[in-house]
Amino acid sequence: MTKHNDTGSVDAALHSDSQLVLAGRRPEWTGIAGHPGAVVSPPVWRGSTHLYPDIAALRAGHGTNADGHFYYGRRGAPTQWALAEALTELEPGAGKDGGTVLYPSGVAAIAGVLLAVLKPGDVLLMTDNAYEPSRTLANGILADIGVETRWFDPMDLDSLHAVLCDRTRAVLLESPGSLTMEVCDVPAIAAAAHARGACVILDNTWAGPTGFAALSHGVDISILAVTKHVGGHSDLMMGSATAGAEWYGRLRRHAQMLGTVVSPDDAALALRGLRTMGLRLAHTTASARRIAHWLQDQPQVARVLCPMLPGSPGHDLWSRDFAGGCGLFTFVLRGGTGAARDALIDALRLFGIGYSWGGFESLATPVDPARIRTASAWPLADMAADDRFAVRLAIGLEDAGDLIADLAQALAVWAQAARG
Ligand SMILES: *Cc1c(COP(=O)(O)O)cnc(C)c1O
Repeated sequence: MTKHNDTGSVDAALHSDSQLVLAGRRPEWTGIAGHPGAVVSPPVWRGSTHLYPDIAALRAGHGTNADGHFYYGRRGAPTQWALAEALTELEPGAGKDGGTVLYPSGVAAIAGVLLAVLKPGDVLLMTDNAYEPSRTLANGILADIGVETRWFDPMDLDSLHAVLCDRTRAVLLESPGSLTMEVCDVPAIAAAAHARGACVILDNTWAGPTGFAALSHGVDISILAVTKHVGGHSDLMMGSATAGAEWYGRLRRHAQMLGTVVSPDDAALALRGLRTMGLRLAHTTASARRIAHWLQDQPQVARVLCPMLPGSPGHDLWSRDFAGGCGLFTFVLRGGTGAARDALIDALRLFGIGYSWGGFESLATPVDPARIRTASAWPLADMAADDRFAVRLAIGLEDAGDLIADLAQALAVWAQAARG
């Protein structure tokens, strides 16, 4: 009946598009034991109570803490297990004793991982292009429990070495940065961190596991905002952390102590999104490349920060290390004012105004990274000082030509507003 092998594990030699179709589809999670046939996707197993055949089995239930064992709703059921297993299978390097922990949002994944790895007195190093809630967490809960955070320039290994110390327990990376899009040298940073005994954590939301094989490039724990590409339809919130045997057990125990659980309905939506993620990413990557090239030629645009574009910070590292891209990138306007930038975004007809990305619909938001950076400069060193008003685009599944026409009319509105 099922053509993939019945341990549920996917052949690592297959192309990622094939793995996306097969991952996590264990026969025992899609069919009924002892009955022939199965459905394609695991059903939504709603449940708090899990029933045991007798007291001896209830007592024995405490003995096994792994996905695949009914115990209690907080430990999930086949819908969540299938999603976690699919994400592990997509991450070469997780190994057979590694695994994935699901969290109720991407931010919850970042917080859950950092709280599992760090203890009072430790130093956390964080890349200066990190997502703002990661910084807020460092300055809030982590500072409160006696963890010190130091920031470094993602593009400058010397700036990392300057803050590494014997108390460094973890390094949090985001590559590309989700606002300013720098791709950093993950293997080199990981080697430097490992030499000091630090754990390397990557927010891999931009590329996802099929675009950047994080664990194979030296990362210990790879975090995704499942909300973005995996969900893919702007209708669910979820996060994940995938790790090898060294960290997976600890992440899992911590998540359980904190009562972390995701709903089976959301897990089913995430599994549905996962199956088409390859197609969506291929489409949005191709559109983003085309739109980024077009923007680069517009007189109103000073700089396009798109990892797939030659000249963007870390483009060479993207070419070296990445197998794919996505639709998220930023462009910087040539001078102008904040009000003119806002007028541009308001004038767009096909781009929604709102947070998040990775859905089927295009979005545009203002970006002001200078406000949050502490260890490195913005604008980038090779940009003019008044080129500081940026727009981040999340390219969706609309026709790229239509999106370019929309941007063209909005840039004309900007030019008029910038002249005042
Ligand atoms: C959106 C995002 C997150 C947080 O995900 P939520 O599910 O919205 O909490 C984390 N990291 C990056 C890079 C993101 O873009």
